[in-house]
Amino acid sequence: MDAWKPHLSQVAPYPYQRVEARVKLDQNESPEELPAAVKARALTRLAALPWNRYPDLHGEEVRAAVARYAGWPADGVAVAPGSNFLILALGQAARRVVDTSPSFAYYEGAARLSGVDYRAVKLGQDFALPVGGMLAALSGEPGVLFLSQPHAPTGKLFPRGEVEALVKGATAQGWLAVLDEAYHQFARSDFRDLARSNPRVVLLRTFSKAWCLGGIRGGYLLGAPEVAGKVQSMLPPFLIPAHTAAVLLSALEAPGYVEELAGRVAAERERLQAGLSRHPSWKAHQSATNFVLVRTPDARAAYQGLLARSVLVRRQDHYPGLSGCIRVTVGSPAENDAFLAAAMGLP
Ligand code: PMP
Repeated sequence: MDAWKPHLSQVAPYPYQRVEARVKLDQNESPEELPAAVKARALTRLAALPWNRYPDLHGEEVRAAVARYAGWPADGVAVAPGSNFLILALGQAARRVVDTSPSFAYYEGAARLSGVDYRAVKLGQDFALPVGGMLAALSGEPGVLFLSQPHAPTGKLFPRGEVEALVKGATAQGWLAVLDEAYHQFARSDFRDLARSNPRVVLLRTFSKAWCLGGIRGGYLLGAPEVAGKVQSMLPPFLIPAHTAAVLLSALEAPGYVEELAGRVAAERERLQAGLSRHPSWKAHQSATNFVLVRTPDARAAYQGLLARSVLVRRQDHYPGLSGCIRVTVGSPAENDAFLAAAMGLP
């Protein structure tokens, strides 16, 4: 298309295809619905709103509620319908992007869409964080460093000292370090203290996982006011729909369910890993998230074999270093049983 910027030819579609199956373990969603009382409150709130009116310009009411919940100044919070929008804004703002490989696909997606230089540094043995290699990749003009912690798609929680060393080295060279805590509740990890003490560190969090709200779309950024304000101002006006705001506000009023759900999921994750340890050829990697990366002799055969038994997982073997790998979301106890039973019947 002649009218378009040439760099858009490098933009690949997001690697996801919807497939129907009885046991859906392919998107790292919560296996449980929002508690019924919270859902009822959200619906009441939504019914009381005038639907003919625009919502807040930049989700101000949600921002204030997130700030109260997170113990963060409201001007240091940015909100969006999904943290993917925040990743996109950060990619647009960045002069360059450095990432790990493998990584969550949309960091690269946002960089490519923005036409900025993108570099990914391979994880080491046993998915070790390549602190030295990443610091070397940062030399030259500063930009935005993306790191999910715990890490996707490996599920690994890097040792805190290593993350701190990387962040310290990066921010000292003028980089903005983005720690994506999409799965932090399942790891009980929390990098707010690092972001509080260093204005070049921002955190991303999502409502899509432990908050049981994947369908509602909500995510937020915690950072210094200069960074959060800039990111928020880069997003289109009136981006958080009234219905999304109604649900997020209701959830933020009763957040106790999140930790309980995360605890149940973590216990099921351990059960899933213990079950997989008895598989003759599959190897489950350690995980601090709500998913488990499993190395099989043949990812395609494993995926198809599971699907034939009505269990849907995600192939990960397109990532460098993840040949043979599939990713299974921790589901309900019954779903995990179905997965384990199906897996045990496969080579
Ligand atoms: N970051 C990571 C590491 C993720 O895995 C995901 C979702 N799969 C996101 C961000 C995007 O989350 P959201 O639904 O808030 O856009």
